[in-house]
Amino acid sequence: MKLKTFKSILSETVYSIGLNPKHEHLRKKHSEEIHNILQSSYASIGGYAGHKSGSKNERDAIMADVHNPEHKLKLTRHDGKVTSVIVYKDKYGRKLISAGTDGTSHGKTHLKNVLKDDSKMERAWGEFSGPLKAVVGKLGWKQIKSSRMGKLTGKDIKQVSDTEYSRKIGDKDFVKSGMGVAQEQCDVCGSQHPRNKLLFAEGFHVCDSCLDS
Ligand SMILES: [Zn+2]
Repeated sequence: MKLKTFKSILSETVYSIGLNPKHEHLRKKHSEEIHNILQSSYASIGGYAGHKSGSKNERDAIMADVHNPEHKLKLTRHDGKVTSVIVYKDKYGRKLISAGTDGTSHGKTHLKNVLKDDSKMERAWGEFSGPLKAVVGKLGWKQIKSSRMGKLTGKDIKQVSDTEYSRKIGDKDFVKSGMGVAQEQCDVCGSQHPRNKLLFAEGFHVCDSCLDS
């Protein structure tokens, strides 16, 4: 009974902006709240996307990510207030680019549940460090070998170990780990799959259905 109540509360509060057209209006409506959540969530690592915490550049970068129509947002609310948000972009599947909560227990639970679903459905990946890396690791996000991360990020990276690499963001070097499940294309039909579902044959990555036909 308790679980059922909990699940119905959860399903009522998760919004998929950029995926469900009915939720699109929430991007604008809640942009200040989303900004404040992301701004405060990245303050402990110095700022959002390499910008100085609290600077105008940081604000502009957050707002640009939120309002980018190509970006998908998973947003949760409690009593009409935004409690957590995740921003994704399309890159080798769905790449998580930022995430945060309003610091309440509702927000933390909501964020964990969305991240847990991502892991269960193998539908997202991202670059992580610090507390969020520990959180997604506990929720089952798989480690991606750092040797793959240059290709997946499209950036110059320096491999630190099998699981860690460093790359420049702004003018600083950050050590990160790739976590989750990235999708790669079948070289024959172009459809996307987790790489462990693509077979490597004759120098090509090939999906099941292309191999069968
Ligand atoms: Zn194929």
